[in-house]
Amino acid sequence: MSASVKYLVVIIDLNPIYWADKVSASNTLNFKQYLNTIIQFCNAYIAFDINHRLIIIGCSNNETYFLYPDPVNESLIIPTVTKTNLFEQLFVVDRVVENNLKNFIRDGSSASQSVGSMITMALTQALCYINRIIRDTLAGEKNSFRILIIQTTNDTSKQYMNFMNAVFTSEKLNVPIDGCILNNESSLLQQACDLTSGIYLRVPDPNGLLQYLLWLYLTDKELRKMLALPTKMAVDYRPACFCHHKLIDTGYVCSVCLSIYCDNTSACSTCRSAFDANGSTDGSKRPLR
Ligand SMILES: [Zn+2]
Ligand SMILES: [Zn+2]
Repeated sequence: MSASVKYLVVIIDLNPIYWADKVSASNTLNFKQYLNTIIQFCNAYIAFDINHRLIIIGCSNNETYFLYPDPVNESLIIPTVTKTNLFEQLFVVDRVVENNLKNFIRDGSSASQSVGSMITMALTQALCYINRIIRDTLAGEKNSFRILIIQTTNDTSKQYMNFMNAVFTSEKLNVPIDGCILNNESSLLQQACDLTSGIYLRVPDPNGLLQYLLWLYLTDKELRKMLALPTKMAVDYRPACFCHHKLIDTGYVCSVCLSIYCDNTSACSTCRSAFDANGSTDGSKRPLR
């Protein structure tokens, strides 16, 4: 019987905005240390189990890029122990990631003024990649998948709809999403982790990032049962309205297509159902709660 292969997709937020004031900071994590920390975590993940496979996707404020495996030479390196008992492949992984990172940062366009990162795009690419592996899986093979999002920028509610659709897909594919955020709490990431049974953590001290990554995100669902995990916080389940992309507490829902609006409108912009002035329709409006 073939062993179960465990895939981890790491999505790294490389948006420069968070790092702008930390370039020369000596007392807090800077961009170079951040990248080194993530590479160390990735090395640890590969070395942890011979059946571990790694995929790394970087995203900035306007694009995403496969850092590993190399988009040009796509084969995944399978870890093996050599005569010297060293995972020589780790060096290859490091080199591929480093080269792709340099290309990504050098070629990145600064045209977009958006402050948020393309986390949603990276997440959908991760799901497409996973779907392809599932499709190519031979009968009898049993693979498991996991996605880890390391985010440094604030949520952009513009991505709410697409992000949540990706999260529901992930839930359906039984792929847990883990979230690790260095900045302010992220309501979208919290919802993603809660819905897919992943672990969400806002790192209290970025200097300890490696410890947090190794503690929580090296292990899969089964091993986590044996760990002392951080206590679960109440999840902020506020949705974003479809009209202004603002997170709202109370709003109106189209009863035909479930689109959410922050204010009374005469017609649903998604499915074009007309609402009458009294609030009942073919698609009646009602407050969210
Ligand atoms: Zn609105
Ligand atoms: Zn509608």
